[in-house]
Amino acid sequence: MRRLLIVVAVACLSVPACAGDARTAAALRDRALGDPTAWNVLESLTTEIGPRPAGSPAAQRARDWGLAKLRALGFINVHAEAFPHPSWARGDESAEVTAPFPQKLSVIGLGGSVPTPPNGIEANIVVLKKYADLLAHPGAFKGKIIVVDQPMSRTKDIAGYAEAVVARYGASEAAKRGAVAYLVRSISTGDTREPHTGSGKFGADAPRIPAAALGVPDADLLAHMAARGPVRVRLKLASFVRPNSMAWNVSGEIVGSAKPSEVIVIGGHLDSWDPGTGAIDDGAGVAITTAAAHLIAGLPRHPRRTIRVVMWGSEETGGSSDAYLAAHKNEAPKIVVMGESDLGSDRAYALELPPGALRRPALRPLSKLLAPLGIAVSRQAPKEAGSDVEGLQGAGVPVFALNQDATRYFDIHHSADDTLAEVDRAQLNQNVAAWAVLLYLVADSDVNFRTKPAK
Ligand SMILES: [Zn+2]
Repeated sequence: MRRLLIVVAVACLSVPACAGDARTAAALRDRALGDPTAWNVLESLTTEIGPRPAGSPAAQRARDWGLAKLRALGFINVHAEAFPHPSWARGDESAEVTAPFPQKLSVIGLGGSVPTPPNGIEANIVVLKKYADLLAHPGAFKGKIIVVDQPMSRTKDIAGYAEAVVARYGASEAAKRGAVAYLVRSISTGDTREPHTGSGKFGADAPRIPAAALGVPDADLLAHMAARGPVRVRLKLASFVRPNSMAWNVSGEIVGSAKPSEVIVIGGHLDSWDPGTGAIDDGAGVAITTAAAHLIAGLPRHPRRTIRVVMWGSEETGGSSDAYLAAHKNEAPKIVVMGESDLGSDRAYALELPPGALRRPALRPLSKLLAPLGIAVSRQAPKEAGSDVEGLQGAGVPVFALNQDATRYFDIHHSADDTLAEVDRAQLNQNVAAWAVLLYLVADSDVNFRTKPAK
C-alpha cells in the first residue's frame, strides 16, 4: 500500500497538474452537495447551545460542544486554547416615547454599553438623518438623547455594511457633544421591528453613555414624531460585565499524509450575539468548514498537508484573533494559508486567492472545478479574509476569501431572527463543496504562496 502511494506521488510531481487530483476534487465537490454534515452540525449547535456570547456560561458549553463534535467526526489533536475575556452581558432593556405620543419602542443594547440608572434616562431627542450630521455638530446636544436614523444600503458584498456600521460606533462622539444617551437605527437592510445588536465603541476620551439600536421602523417613527415637535424618550438598560471570564479557540485536525507540519488553517467563529441562536453568524461558518474538512478526511488517503479547523471563540467582541496569533506566532511560517467563513449560509460567488495563485500548476483546475457551483475565481487578492485571521495575516500568513452573497445577510445578522429557519440547505452545501475543492487542491500540493510563481 505504501509503495503504491509513493508511485502516485512521484507521478503527480512529474506532471504539472495532476489529473487524479482534479478528479478527486470534482468527486468531493459533488459529494458535498448531498452531504448532511454541515446541516447536522449547525442544527446541533443551534439546538443544543443556542446563543453563546464570548465569556458567557453558554460559551463554555459551546466549547465543550465543539470539542465533542470534532472528536465525534474523527478529527485529532482536538483541544481548546483558553484566553481571558471580560464579558459584557445584557440585562432588562426597554425604551418608550413618554411624550407627546406615548408608545413603546423596540430596542436592544449595544455590546459594551454602560447601563442606565435603574429608572432609566429620560430626555428630549435629536434625530439626525446621517451619522455625518453628528460629526458636523460641535457640542450642540447637551442633555439630549441622540438618534441617528441613517439607512443601510443593500449590496451583494459587504460594502453597504462597511459604510453603515460606523453609526453603531457613535456613542463617544455623541457624548463629547453633551448627549446623555445614544440610539442608532439598526445596522440592517431589513424592515421588521427586530432590532440588531453589535458592539459599540466607547472611547476613553469621552464620558461613557448608554447606547442601543432601534428597530428600523422605530427609528423612522421617531423621525416622524420629531418632525412634529419635541419628543421625549425614556431608555432603560441593565447591562453588566462579568469579570475574570474566559474564552476559547477550539480546534481539531485532519493530519497530512506527507507533510503534516504544513498546515492549512480554516474555520468560523463559535461565539455569537445573544438575541438569535447564531445560525448564520456564525454557526454556518463553523458548520461549512468542519463539513468540508470532514469530507476530505473520508478519502482513502489524506492529502499531503494538515487541515486544521478552528472554532474561534470571541469574534463579535474581539480577542480571538489576537489570542490565536499569540498562541501560534512560532508556527506562522508553517501555516500555508488561512481562511474564515463568516458571512452567513448563502451561496458563495467569488474566490479570492493570494497573488499569483492561479499560475500555480496545482491550482489551475480550480476555475473549472468551481464553475459548476457558480463561483468565479477572482484575479484580485483578498483585502479582508475574516476578523479571526487578521492577526496571523498581519504576521505574513497568506489568506484567501470565499465571498458569499450578502444580499440577504444583513436582514438577519445580530438579530433575534438569526436562527436555523433562515438557512437554506442547498446553499449551505454549495459552500461546503467550494471549501472542499479548494482545501483538497491546496492540501494535496506543495504550493508555497510566499514565493513568486513562475510567469
Ligand atoms: Zn460573524
